[in-house]
Amino acid sequence: MKSRPLTRRTAVLGLTATAAALARPSIVRAQAAARIVVVGGGFAGAACARALKRAQDSLQVILIEPNTVFTACPFSNEVIAGLRDLDAQQFSYDRLAADAITVIAQAAATIAPQQRSVVTADGVALPYDRLVLSPGIDFHFDALPGYSDAAAEKMPHAWKAGAQTLLLRRQLEAMPDGGTVAIAVPANPSRCPPAPYERASLIAHYLKARKPRSKLLILDAKDSFSQQRLFEQAWKELYGDMIERVALSQGGRVTSVDAATRTIVTEFGNYTPDVANVIPPQRAGRIADIAGAADATGWCPIDPVTFASKLVPNIHVIGDACLGGGIPKSAAAAAAQGKACAAAIVALLADRTPEAPRLTGICYNTVAPGYGFSLTGNYQPRGDIFAEVEGGATSPLDAPRELRAREAEDAERWYRTITSECFG
Ligand SMILES: Cc1cc2nc3c(=O)[nH]c(=O)nc-3n(C[C@H](O)[C@H](O)[C@H](O)COP(=O)(O)OP(=O)(O)OC[C@H]3O[C@@H](n4cnc5c(N)ncnc54)[C@H](O)[C@@H]3O)c2cc1C
Repeated sequence: MKSRPLTRRTAVLGLTATAAALARPSIVRAQAAARIVVVGGGFAGAACARALKRAQDSLQVILIEPNTVFTACPFSNEVIAGLRDLDAQQFSYDRLAADAITVIAQAAATIAPQQRSVVTADGVALPYDRLVLSPGIDFHFDALPGYSDAAAEKMPHAWKAGAQTLLLRRQLEAMPDGGTVAIAVPANPSRCPPAPYERASLIAHYLKARKPRSKLLILDAKDSFSQQRLFEQAWKELYGDMIERVALSQGGRVTSVDAATRTIVTEFGNYTPDVANVIPPQRAGRIADIAGAADATGWCPIDPVTFASKLVPNIHVIGDACLGGGIPKSAAAAAAQGKACAAAIVALLADRTPEAPRLTGICYNTVAPGYGFSLTGNYQPRGDIFAEVEGGATSPLDAPRELRAREAEDAERWYRTITSECFG
């Protein structure tokens, strides 16, 4: 950790200032600088809050986030494989507070769009001119019978980084040589589509070094996946036949689980692995649903030029929670959306027409130390979604190991840059 986390007292001071503002007569409020409340301080929310303040210092920017320390998912697969400490994933909000963003260490509990007000878990109402929702994902437990928060203590998802990441790592460490690790992969849309396969690779790296008689089984609700040929080439080259994948058409979709017996049920048969990493189906963070911003898909439809919710006025949705179309749910996309949304809000407040954004996302996968590859994409609004446009690129197949080593270094550099932009 770089610096001291927010204390309860800091948070209370933030609330007190807001409560004082609330008490002002409405005529004064109308003349005051616009107040933007951002719910969720992950990659999307932190990037947006900072970009708002940088674009227009006079804006009141309030960030509501229950955790005083953010734990980043990118590179958390390396923590699971014992290649990195969880500390390298953790960032405080001190730098955002130093940028004159009011950081409130609470969860948003309810939202009243008519009153334009967010109520935090401790019962304080915060009015807004515009609200940005960036709550990331929650799990769609109804879509996977048998799975729940309690089941995740036995069959970890490790799809929100932190305690779950360490639990999965401990289970791998405790597993005997010759054991089986299974990873259950959901259908899209889901957070970071290539990350389950990166995880499989890095767990295989750990097993090869420490428990070489073990197997890794991927039970997949998809037939094909992002950068598949690159992954499969690397698996063959690095891990021989240690990784086995059962695709959707082979009956790989997981239909239920039983945590008591650590059983994974698929369309083809039952599996009882020694370590079960169950990544459940996902949806937008629950507060998006409470706000009325999520539709029947569980995700939030938006206008891709402004990120304005299609369902609720004066609310914008960014990051994993929004229905982005062709743009993957990634930290790179979330931060890019955060910045573009900030620009759109500043334009809207000034009665200007926001410019259509062109977003670029890069996604690195590290399949072993010093072995990485990437996918770059460009995305622009088309109708109600983002569509991929020309200019994207994927690392070549059959590339020399020097290129893979360079891309692994680029991945580290990317992580340092994005976390510094958002939290540093
Ligand atoms: C294993 C793994 C590896 C990954 N690797 C990569 C990678 O290499 N590159 C990449 O680009 N992406 C990667 N990702 C994806 C990336 O982590 C997500 O896409 C990204 O975090 C999305 O950002 P976000 O801001 O939308 O959500 P998050 O970063 O999850 O932030 C959401 C925040 O909202 C807060 N929140 C939720 N509800 C409330 C509420 N009611 N009130 C207040 N706050 C709330 C949460 O506490 C959280 O801090 C990976 C993901 C995983 C799981």
